[in-house]
Amino acid sequence: AKAAGRGAFRFFEPEMNSHAQLRRSLQLDLRRAIEAGEFELFYQPQVRLRDRRITGFESLLRWHHPERGLVMPERFVPLAEETGLIVPLGEWALRHACAVAAGWPGREKVAVNLSPVQFASARLVPAVEAALRDSGLEPARLELEITETVMLRDTDATLATLHRLKRLGVSIALDDFGTGYSSLGYLQRFPFDKVKIDKSFVKNLAETRTSGAIVRAIVSLCAALEMSTTAEGVETEAQFLALAALGCTEAQGYLFSRPRPAAELALISQPS
Ligand code: C2E
Ligand code: CA
Ligand code: CA
Ligand code: CA
Repeated sequence: AKAAGRGAFRFFEPEMNSHAQLRRSLQLDLRRAIEAGEFELFYQPQVRLRDRRITGFESLLRWHHPERGLVMPERFVPLAEETGLIVPLGEWALRHACAVAAGWPGREKVAVNLSPVQFASARLVPAVEAALRDSGLEPARLELEITETVMLRDTDATLATLHRLKRLGVSIALDDFGTGYSSLGYLQRFPFDKVKIDKSFVKNLAETRTSGAIVRAIVSLCAALEMSTTAEGVETEAQFLALAALGCTEAQGYLFSRPRPAAELALISQPS
């Protein structure tokens, strides 16, 4: 067992090194990449279950790295948070998403993900205000997605920020609900317009009764609190039908479309 352990250690060591190197080089690259315009936002439709109409699009960051190709956010968002670079990057995303959505022919919403780091920054509210003003986007068409991590910090400050954002006329969605330190109390205490049910609950929906029970409980609680619900990670028609039966408001997932570049959005057909 000892020999195997050493072997395993030798086997993993180079990989850990290259992982650390990768982190470091991506971190150095991030700063340059913002300036160089290597980021792009992809958009994924959010579909109303009742009539399958697209009500909005979530914007999702992609990094076109000159050597590494397409880098996904799970790779660089945590690094950008550690270095604080998520603040300028997030502001870029906010401005860009608002400008793009202002040019859509319809009145679909655009959802922008906010990092907890951004949320804690004094620049957030002015940045949202500036993005709305400069793009001319109607505030009601902007939705900000925040995670439960935000609520773990100073509750009064968080609440004050949420209310300031809501006064601008934007809506707030609680992302990844059910995964973190979810407390049902958050739903009552914070002014969310929407709760996004994490894909882990949606995954087994068509197969197991327990997932259905959890989704049903979230949906009915949110309905009672006058919040809508969006199920994430909907990949099959069976999941879609189960969610419709449970009274969920909207769905988002590969069943409708993967996230795509802004220029391809016209290709996502809208049933009439
Ligand atoms: P998220 O906000 O929970 O975004 C949903 C993720 O699920 C996206 O991954 C999306 O591509 C993926 N997804 C959508 N439909 C399906 C499906 O049917 N099945 C499965 N398995 N996955 C699906 P993505 O684009 O890789 O983003 C990952 C995470 O990175 C996001 O999770 C979000 O936390 C973060 N992120 C992305 N863009 C931004 C951004 O602009 N700012 C910040 N702060 N974070 C971002
Ligand atoms: Ca999100
Ligand atoms: Ca999510
Ligand atoms: Ca997530």
